[in-house]
Amino acid sequence: MSISQLAREVHESPTLRLNEAARLLKERGEPVIHLGAGEPKSKVPIDAILASVSKLTSGEVRYTPTEGIPSLIKAIIRYTEENYDKMVGPRNVLTSSGAKQAFYNLMMTIINPQDEVVIVAPYWVSYPEIVRMVYGVPVIVTPEDGRFEPTMADITQAVSGYTKAIVINSPNNPSGAVYGEDLIAELIAYCEKKDIYLIMDDIYHQLVFGDGKWISCYKHAKDDSENSKLIVINGVSKSYAMTGFRIGWTIANQKVTAAMINIAAQNTSCPSVVAQAAAAGALTGVQSGVESLRLTLENNATVMMNELNSFNGIRTIRPKGTFYCLPDFRAYDKDSVKLSKFILDKARVVSVPGKEFGMEGHLRLSFCGTIKEIKEGVQRIKWALDPESPNEIYIGDRKLRRDWK
Ligand code: PMP
Repeated sequence: MSISQLAREVHESPTLRLNEAARLLKERGEPVIHLGAGEPKSKVPIDAILASVSKLTSGEVRYTPTEGIPSLIKAIIRYTEENYDKMVGPRNVLTSSGAKQAFYNLMMTIINPQDEVVIVAPYWVSYPEIVRMVYGVPVIVTPEDGRFEPTMADITQAVSGYTKAIVINSPNNPSGAVYGEDLIAELIAYCEKKDIYLIMDDIYHQLVFGDGKWISCYKHAKDDSENSKLIVINGVSKSYAMTGFRIGWTIANQKVTAAMINIAAQNTSCPSVVAQAAAAGALTGVQSGVESLRLTLENNATVMMNELNSFNGIRTIRPKGTFYCLPDFRAYDKDSVKLSKFILDKARVVSVPGKEFGMEGHLRLSFCGTIKEIKEGVQRIKWALDPESPNEIYIGDRKLRRDWK
């Protein structure tokens, strides 16, 4: 069979692969705890469900304009005004089948072969893959050892004459870091001066805890003209627990948006109208679900930190947002792929190797499950790794003894 060089070079999604491994183990009746998940467990907002049901029962389920149905575009404009304090017009908005496709359409639109895209580690696994899928070159910036937030110097050192864009994801998957306002302000000024695209992936912006503070990028943008190269990506997957609906969007200048619409028209025509109706319902409906999810996650983060803090040798930075943390397990194993597999084999706990996010020696643990899963999950990892923890444990109804070092 002949497959393209590109298809051979694109890596499998590690998170989807782990989900599959966990599903197969569960099917065999294994008591798996999933600390690898990337989706909240709360229910989809009722307004989203009602809006999509009403679309379905109308019997009129058809193509829509590529950019999206007017009610969703309107809802996104209002969302941007309320959350970002920024007025945008309908021609600045393009909806897509998830924020993932938003990023893909954007890369297809602005990247020429060999253009460089600066990506800060730890990063969402799909950024470098998608950049490669459009024949661009991902340039990874790794902050100083142990830090999850880059300095301006880290970033500017990575910028060259070939740099087309810088991607920022704050609150950050996988570290839970929320970048400081000074850094965001400096980055915006720098990109405006250098005429580089600055892409803000804000998909977790409503899920911020304690003293973490997410900042609307527009607050510091001097250029609010149609020449601005500041682009926002957002969606309903995380804050509204609507991962399965697959709705995301971009806010960009009209020229970029029009070009992206051409690309999107040729690859998907439009996102599903049922899902678009649901997203419009979520954005315009009762918002209390978002705050209750945020509070649950904040509490879960505390539970996760308490568990991890009692773990010898682990270094953890408290997440300020999202539903992930990225503890440093190098004291146990520098090879995160091996370690993650070991933990799944011995303790039946799913984690995601930090290597996939550009942070070898770390594991991404998510805390969007139940308190019981978080506590038991970390206790099982502790049992498998920490020789000072009790060497017997119950996993499901099996009593296991640690007989390795
Ligand atoms: N950006 C980041 C940083 C993410 O973590 C995710 C989901 N894992 C996405 C984008 C994609 O979200 P969606 O489900 O809307 O495609």
